[in-house]
Amino acid sequence: MKNTIEGFGELVFGLPVMEARLSAPTFASLKKTIDSGSTLDPGIADEVAEAMKEWAMEKGATHYTHWFQPLTGSTAEKHDSFIFPDFKGGVVTSFSGDELIQGEPDASSFPSGGLRATFEARGYTGWDPSSPAFIKYDSVNAATLCIPTVFCGYNGEALDKKTPLLRSMKVLSDQTIRLGKLFGIDCGDAMAQATLGGEQEYFLIDLDLVAERPDLLRTGRTLFGKPASKHQQLDDHYFGAIKPRVAAFMAELDAVLWQYGVPAKTRHNEVCPAQFEIAPVFETLNIGVDHNMITMEVLKVTAEKHGFACLLHEKPFAGVNGSGKHNNWAIMGPDGKNWLKPGDNPHENAKFMTIVVALLKAVDTHADLLRASVATAGNDHRLGANEAPPAVVSVFLGDQLTDIVEQIEAGGANESKDGGHIHLGVDLLPQLPRGNTDRNRTSPFAFVGNRFEFRAVGSNQSPAGANIVLNTIVAEAFDYICTEVETAVAGGKEFNAALQDVLAAVIKEHKRILFNGDGYTDEWIEEATKVRGLPNLVTTEDALPMLQTQKAKDLFAKYGVLSNAELESRFNIYEETYETIIGIEAATAAEIAKTMLVPAAVTAIAEYSAVPAVAGICAEMSSLLEKAVAGIAKLEAAEKPAKQIAAMNELRVSIDALESLVPADLWPLPSYAELLLV
Ligand code: ADP
Ligand code: MG
Repeated sequence: MKNTIEGFGELVFGLPVMEARLSAPTFASLKKTIDSGSTLDPGIADEVAEAMKEWAMEKGATHYTHWFQPLTGSTAEKHDSFIFPDFKGGVVTSFSGDELIQGEPDASSFPSGGLRATFEARGYTGWDPSSPAFIKYDSVNAATLCIPTVFCGYNGEALDKKTPLLRSMKVLSDQTIRLGKLFGIDCGDAMAQATLGGEQEYFLIDLDLVAERPDLLRTGRTLFGKPASKHQQLDDHYFGAIKPRVAAFMAELDAVLWQYGVPAKTRHNEVCPAQFEIAPVFETLNIGVDHNMITMEVLKVTAEKHGFACLLHEKPFAGVNGSGKHNNWAIMGPDGKNWLKPGDNPHENAKFMTIVVALLKAVDTHADLLRASVATAGNDHRLGANEAPPAVVSVFLGDQLTDIVEQIEAGGANESKDGGHIHLGVDLLPQLPRGNTDRNRTSPFAFVGNRFEFRAVGSNQSPAGANIVLNTIVAEAFDYICTEVETAVAGGKEFNAALQDVLAAVIKEHKRILFNGDGYTDEWIEEATKVRGLPNLVTTEDALPMLQTQKAKDLFAKYGVLSNAELESRFNIYEETYETIIGIEAATAAEIAKTMLVPAAVTAIAEYSAVPAVAGICAEMSSLLEKAVAGIAKLEAAEKPAKQIAAMNELRVSIDALESLVPADLWPLPSYAELLLV
């Protein structure tokens, strides 16, 4: 049997292929652009395009596409073939540098949130050389060269998720390099990179059963369904042996992802039956995001081949665990090292602690924006709904790091070392925590040894949005700390003393964001909101307006990540998407109840009414049916999301109760027990 690891990257026009197929000067120039983010030399574009085309055609590709990430949250492609008539009845193939660098897909139907009027609706795509091109096989004989691109309007306004992501990465890089210089690290042109390892949770449900559930087909989640008597109570699925049918799926999934150069690493059963997880080895953020988008697509396509539907919805089933996407994020300095790894000496540790303190400032100042970045209709079922993690954003550092943070804060009050307080860069800091021993599963933003894990991202979301916020707010905090320290030093203060004072002050101001306890408890929500004044933005409708505050506008505009108009457009699109999704759910729920479930109950009542022994059940069904019919009317009349959600929840109570009474063979929807326990 062939070892599928050997196929790693074979569909990717990555550095090794480039080096083999480009002239030395062209390769060197392109590599410089990739490594340092410098502007692409347009003079090399023709040669790169030709090499890409040759390589792609050898792999069977007939078309190319600019592959981009519009604000719908998915990926988009419009294929063009390589052919060009030779006007002698045949064709030649061509792919020019211009075609590689810029495209004009029209694409006027993508949401722009008011950024462009329809008469100037054209969007432009632009090559992102930092993410490698790849070939996608949609089916036999349908191979397309995919070129990752940004998607912008006529005046350069960002119509996509990649543009602001790249901007935020540049801003973070600039500020990280500046921070490094405070500690004597200067690496010339080299950029700093954010890194991303996205753990992806998903459900696999038998395709034939899904076909009988209009709710799953249309909304990605079940709108009705009484809990199965056995689901995840015994935790007998988590990390359990993988069943052969699922194992076959996972093997193919990994093999395909490896071909795409996605470093799929971990696969396992999750807590809920039928729930699984895949995690890659981390990569630089931009590539990590692209690879997560590819992973989501490959998950769905491969699942279908194996007779499964892959559900990426955050909450496909009530009463059991939902799915998230743990966003593991760290900073790789310009020296290529992970700066979120505690160091071996006081100097490195001082840099590490500076970054940790900056993170506290960033998250505390912009907890509302982090929450808004993960606000979707689907994710509302997790955040703020008694599931991991809570809607209140706090930071977990673990006891040891928290202790050090507290010592820095206390030390700042003194001019010199006393009382055992730590002075950065002066003392040998105690051994900082290493590895992943300190874990808190309930925290939305946890330090896990060498990275932060933001756990509130939805399984169905592009990771771009959350990371745009994360990069920008951390860059702002670095900027602040650097400015304060630089100013103090310029004023004659000794560096370590200056740093000490700045960090102590920042900690004092922002330590309320630190919480190491159980984030699920009511006491914490009470304390967080009443005592600490942290925002508790329970729903998308609470969270999205945070994109409209002056604070948010100033932040994104100051760092050039999103102009006010670009930010506004995101708010408009996300709000409209939210309303549309809830509207579809409400209409689907009413329709299913009316045309499938009420008739089933009516049949059952008619059959039972002749049999005195079941008179009690019959009466119960009749009373529930009455409630259900009233509930449908109420749902159909409901207009705004909040009312529609309340009406759906109310209707579901009587419908789910009916499901437990109506004979199983009359109930037209496959039950939770059938769906989850394949
Ligand atoms: P766990 O479930 O314990 O969190 P996993 O192995 O499932 O562990 O996922 C951890 C994720 O964190 C992986 O994707 C891993 O590559 C990623 N990761 C590790 N180091 C870094 C880093 N420096 N930057 C970003 N992600 C990282
Ligand atoms: Mg994790």
